[in-house]
Amino acid sequence: MKEQLDALQAEALAKISGCTSLQELQDVRVAYLGKKGAVTALLKGLGKLDKEERPKMGAMVNTVREALEAELSNVQAGLEAKALQARLDSERIDITLPGRTRRQGHLHPLTKVNEMIESFFMKMGYTVAEGPEIESDYYNFECLNLPADHPARDMQDSFYITDSVLLRTHTSPVQARTLQSHEPNSPVRMIAPGKVYRWDYDATHSPVFHQVEGLVVDKGITFADLKGTLELFLRHIFGNDTKVRFRTSFFPFTEPSAEVDISCCMCGGEGCRMCSHTGWLEILGCGMVHPNVLCLNGYDPDKVSGFAFGMGVERIAMLLYGINDLRLFYEDDMRFLKQF
Ligand SMILES: [Zn+2]
Repeated sequence: MKEQLDALQAEALAKISGCTSLQELQDVRVAYLGKKGAVTALLKGLGKLDKEERPKMGAMVNTVREALEAELSNVQAGLEAKALQARLDSERIDITLPGRTRRQGHLHPLTKVNEMIESFFMKMGYTVAEGPEIESDYYNFECLNLPADHPARDMQDSFYITDSVLLRTHTSPVQARTLQSHEPNSPVRMIAPGKVYRWDYDATHSPVFHQVEGLVVDKGITFADLKGTLELFLRHIFGNDTKVRFRTSFFPFTEPSAEVDISCCMCGGEGCRMCSHTGWLEILGCGMVHPNVLCLNGYDPDKVSGFAFGMGVERIAMLLYGINDLRLFYEDDMRFLKQF
């Protein structure tokens, strides 16, 4: 019996030390020490032995079992260490690879220009006002001195929702809303930035574009205040050497009215393709608030006066950055946007 046990132990130990994987090792463990394993079978068979034989035989089988278990955990530790080393070798991090940088976005050029304009006027003590983009005919036209038969109200130029509701064609309604929300004849100094909508699409026109309008109303406001404000503003945006000129013009909501030009920022006034060889670029419209507009919005033109101006944000951005097609602003092409 002793010889048989020794042979079994020797055979098992050889198999255990010959294992090359944890799975193989597990199979050997089951073959000898599992429920139906060879050593387990021997232990179960002890019951059939004589009373004197039983303890002696039991002790011998247990010795074999302990020897096998010791070798199993020994080999298991070795295989686990090997597996860990193999993983460490294969998953090694190559710290010489260049890092992957996260692409960082930035503000859209139109947002940048809008912020430049807002920050200038806020420093001058203006408030920033907003209004609805879906506007009533009353605010968009009527209270701005554009009565129903006025040619500027041509249906062709606007997006109407109903006969009396449309997408605002300018930010001027915010001026009317601001005046009406104030105590009559109290001072106002505000700008209104925002989206406006017109029926137009080409290299210099988009059906949606951005405007900033300004309005100042107080006692004794004159055209000199308007001129000084806009000259300061345009030099702030386009540089201190910029020349500014006012040309008489017509708008229904101002009287007198003027178009404002700046000296060409490409050629400095020499004349080039961008300025059609005139040396000047048209930049915004302005004027003294029409007495009718003051009346229509609850103000008394005998007591107060004011000036107003309006500019296209796209136009300013195009001149500032030398962009020749306005549609580029809306196409979301990274090659274009990355330049700003
Ligand atoms: Zn020029």
